[in-house]
Amino acid sequence: MADIPHTSNWINGQYASQTPTTITVLNPAIEKPLATINATSQETVNEIVTTSLHTFQTSAWRQTDASVRFSILSKAATLLRARINDFVALETAQTGRPIREMRTQLSRVPEWLEYFASLARVHEGRVTPFKGAVINTLTRVPLGVVVLITPYNHPLLIAMKKIGAALAAGNVVIAKPSELAPLSVLRLGPLFQEAGLPDGVLQIVSGYGRDTGRYLCEHPRVSKIDLTGGIATYRAIAPIAAMNMVPITAELGGKAPVCLFPSLEVEVAVKAALFAGFIASGQTCVTGSRLLVHKDLYESFRDLLEKRVRALRIGDPTDEKTQIGAVISQAAVERSAAFVDRALQDGGKLLCGGNATTNSEGKGFFFEPTIIETHARSDLACKEVFGPVIALVKCESEEEIVQVANDTSYALGASVWTNNFAQAHRVAEKIEAGIVWINGHHLNDPSSPWGGFKESGLGKENGVEAYESYTKVKSTVINYGVAPVWFDDEVSEARYG
Ligand code: NAD
Repeated sequence: MADIPHTSNWINGQYASQTPTTITVLNPAIEKPLATINATSQETVNEIVTTSLHTFQTSAWRQTDASVRFSILSKAATLLRARINDFVALETAQTGRPIREMRTQLSRVPEWLEYFASLARVHEGRVTPFKGAVINTLTRVPLGVVVLITPYNHPLLIAMKKIGAALAAGNVVIAKPSELAPLSVLRLGPLFQEAGLPDGVLQIVSGYGRDTGRYLCEHPRVSKIDLTGGIATYRAIAPIAAMNMVPITAELGGKAPVCLFPSLEVEVAVKAALFAGFIASGQTCVTGSRLLVHKDLYESFRDLLEKRVRALRIGDPTDEKTQIGAVISQAAVERSAAFVDRALQDGGKLLCGGNATTNSEGKGFFFEPTIIETHARSDLACKEVFGPVIALVKCESEEEIVQVANDTSYALGASVWTNNFAQAHRVAEKIEAGIVWINGHHLNDPSSPWGGFKESGLGKENGVEAYESYTKVKSTVINYGVAPVWFDDEVSEARYG
């Protein structure tokens, strides 16, 4: 492994030394090692949390003027924008996602820093209508050392959503990116340092989730855990966090319905389905993985969809023309194949795709974009695949579409596509999901709260909600007229509460 570069943890303003055990990060499109990273031990995690707590307690960051925080985070955004091409190349290599997706997605990532920098600058406290000669101010103070655990599918975007909010609010951050695609996040340390962030305020730690991630989440001195990942990971973390009284934001999985109504032109309906379903080879939490199609649109939609999916260009993610890249790992290929097998055993009909594939040299973790006609209660229509295998379900009516849309344990994203104004609002109002798009899908903005209901999660990323979730409210009660006469011998107009 001597010729493979190593990227260590970023701790206290420098790259730490390499750990004896390392993890190899693969390029999933060619199955070649890209780099090795640290597999951080429990002992080192404990040291990192201790030093981070010391930084929180002793450094000026938590009390830094909002205007300074604004400047530093804005400068980090500017530096990131100037270097975005390097990050695009790295992100494409480590995720196997097409370069055109990564370029488009990453071009907006600096906006998250700018948004939270701005929120820090303009956020105001409150004064309550407290009775009597008393002024009660409510101010928001940072939480402490916060642990951010992020997934492999949008490595930089998801890390930056959390890092932006957490730093803007004055916390010390420990970020642990996914061991499958950690390299872009590990590169952020020097960038924030150059922007003027004090050393030790952003720590970046790598390792396996079941080890390093768990050690971080179990540490009693952390003040918040912000996880984006699967429900199994949430369930592993939640009990101990509850014991430690550590709040969790959890951005978990989804099974987003794409509700397609007959007022649409069929071409638009098919474009909507392709966009919703196959960005990132279906590896997004809001992948439109259930196409719920009204019967009056169904036949023409199915025929055109099949034609368009068969024509999608799958292959080398670095090729500008590639539309479908790799999935992250052999395990992801096998999970997709298992969903196909189960769906067919359950009476599903394969319209197109259904197979694992490789590049021309027989390498890479690829899975063909797949559409299976199935019923609403099938495993494929109810469980998250996190791959390019999409359930197509025919529905008899608007009521049935709403009922099916709401009939899974997930409730993260959903889209409603119709040219009927009243129907759009009626259906959107009835769908239970944290994010409902009308005539859109995947649309996202730093100002727009993002998060699911039911088993899709707790709390929000983005928006004022995310910023405030990185703070706690402190109430200061300033008395200028209530005398402390309670235990005097002769008391008149004594006030207790
Ligand atoms: P994952 O849960 O396997 O891993 C996510 C992170 O958790 C990684 O950094 C991993 O190392 C860490 N981890 C794993 N086990 C852990 C443990 N016991 N303790 C602490 N940390 C642990 O998820 P993934 O495969 O990387 O990502 C896919 C999942 O993420 C999907 O379910 C997807 O829907 C979800 N996701 C949700 C959103 C959202 O916004 N709701 C966005 C993207 C992805």
